[in-house]
Amino acid sequence: MSMLSLTSEPGSSDPQLSIIIPCYNEEQNIDYLFQRLESVLDKIGLSYEFVCINDGSCDRTLEKLVEHHYRNSRIKVINFSRNFGKEIALTAGIDFSTGAAVIPIDADLQDPPELIGTLVEKWREGFDVVYATRKTRQGETWLKRLTANAFYRVMGQMSAIAIPRDTGDFRLLDRRVVTALKQLPERTRFMKGLFAWVGFRQTAIYYDRDQRYKGKTKWNYWRLWNFAVDGITSFSLVPLKMWSYIGVTLSFVAFGYAFFLVLRTLILGIDVPGYASLMVVLLFLGGMQLITLGIIGEYLGRVYEEVKRRPLYLVRDLYGIKADQPSSDNDHARSRETAFYNNSE
Ligand code: UDP
Ligand code: MG
Repeated sequence: MSMLSLTSEPGSSDPQLSIIIPCYNEEQNIDYLFQRLESVLDKIGLSYEFVCINDGSCDRTLEKLVEHHYRNSRIKVINFSRNFGKEIALTAGIDFSTGAAVIPIDADLQDPPELIGTLVEKWREGFDVVYATRKTRQGETWLKRLTANAFYRVMGQMSAIAIPRDTGDFRLLDRRVVTALKQLPERTRFMKGLFAWVGFRQTAIYYDRDQRYKGKTKWNYWRLWNFAVDGITSFSLVPLKMWSYIGVTLSFVAFGYAFFLVLRTLILGIDVPGYASLMVVLLFLGGMQLITLGIIGEYLGRVYEEVKRRPLYLVRDLYGIKADQPSSDNDHARSRETAFYNNSE
């Protein structure tokens, strides 16, 4: 199959592959990252671009990226006005990429660049999404593995969309899929869920996840927990709906208990004890009501985020990219709202 038939009308100067690299405090990894990536891509022989997003790093990540941009003009840089988080950085990368296929990859070399060749092979076979699933999780604690497992299980039960297990953002997306992703206007960007939601012809390849090259992970347990809550609330209404059923069940229990009390009073007469059982019921119901309110709050908060209609991200500088690029091939509201302060080229 020829490459052209795989793509949906790319411009003549557009590259075949766009590699998207979100970077947050990765100064130590960048030189080695480009060394590995470039040698892999030169071997594959397709034209490519790197879209690097500096997500508000406080070290010399931006300087490093810009240095590389002047060395190799195919390295393009988007500099955010502050840290917006990896999911948003990926969204920006997808908005600005022009390749016939897009591959997000971590800057810390945990996703081996050598796999890109395999991803591309599968793409040539006609798949629209080729995701890379970890066989092993090296250098991760049992606690992280346990929580990750629990997350995939809960997520799988609660939402109608099957999110592939142990699969990060490292994958290949055909331009068709990218166009579809760009039409999703939501602000809560749970990328793994969105990637699965769009459908298309998907397949997996398996790999061993390496350890971080340098630096340390930015995901502590609090951040991971919030990530999981984001994922569940944006792809499932179960937490909202289950409370009516729990309420109904409890009412039945209470009804039965009331019946029992009436009978007992009729037969045995009035007696005083019952403080302990009253307290238990009271506290239990109070707790349930607070949890329910909290869950409603989670969803309400997200509705509020959506109605505010703030831009997803703000760009401070662009290197190697024209400022109007993201809206040029799609006309949905989100990217038109994206604010640009300064185009450094
Ligand atoms: N990252 C980002 N913004 C953030 C946090 C992380 O762009 O707020 C990037 C980071 O630079 C790396 C990728 O996301 O390229 C994965 O981050 P990390 O290695 O910390 O996550 P882990 O591999 O532990 O899941
Ligand atoms: Mg990592």
